[in-house]
Amino acid sequence: MFNFKPVHLFKSWSELEERIREADRIILFLDYDGTLLPIVERPELAVADEELKTLLNNLAADSKIKVIIASGRAIQTLKQLIPLRNVVYAGDHGINIEFPTGEEFKWRKARQVNPLIDKIYNELSECFRSEPDVIIEKKNSNLSVHYKLLKDANKINGVIQKTYRIVENHDKTGLLQVFEGFKIIEIRAKGWDKGKVVEIVCEKLKTTSRDLIFFIGDDITDEDGFKKIKPTGISILVKNENNRETSADYFLHNPLEVRQFLRYFLSAHNILDSAST
Ligand SMILES: [Mg+2]
Repeated sequence: MFNFKPVHLFKSWSELEERIREADRIILFLDYDGTLLPIVERPELAVADEELKTLLNNLAADSKIKVIIASGRAIQTLKQLIPLRNVVYAGDHGINIEFPTGEEFKWRKARQVNPLIDKIYNELSECFRSEPDVIIEKKNSNLSVHYKLLKDANKINGVIQKTYRIVENHDKTGLLQVFEGFKIIEIRAKGWDKGKVVEIVCEKLKTTSRDLIFFIGDDITDEDGFKKIKPTGISILVKNENNRETSADYFLHNPLEVRQFLRYFLSAHNILDSAST
């Protein structure tokens, strides 16, 4: 599907530094799970530490840098896991977005999707009640079936098949889409993905070709974000233990390297800032 390989971001740092210096603003889209924090076995355990929060707060405090947390999780969950100042929270793959000004974007048709998601959630919970290693995470307008704890391939296949069947039984009008990510199945409203997050946020921020857009993510759902910011944006895949194909231009190995990148970024930017004043 993709005919080139991404390069390690740090190898291209000097060239990137140049582009950062020249940009009017930096727009930084960051996925949460597997990107800012390592993948954990239970989704509720992915709580941000103080160092990460300070780093992101410092970045977001710079008026030239816009930080967007772009996740499939619900906004209220994201805010609990990683409470930050001056950032954009884009939850539910863009169906709900909150800007630091207090302005909100909410997809109006979510009202049709949410009851359907509720019904599917109830049936999935019932179906996997005796299987504690399958975790159903309910958001506002989508839900995830996590099976990181399952080791048996047959059991995993069973979970995937049952999930598809339950969604098909309820979604008669094709409002939903099912995606298989890394040890996760996501059920979400059709047409809502991270590309849509980029579209809505960039429109709101009135981005121009003089702004430099980054999108950093680890999972298949982040590919929509990578594609949306091409050809001028900087797309960065966080590999973790995955070695799948990607449309990203760059890669980092893990969330620790993402943190290192954010630190470089902050110090490069501070140096540039103090040099210009
Ligand atoms: Mg992720």
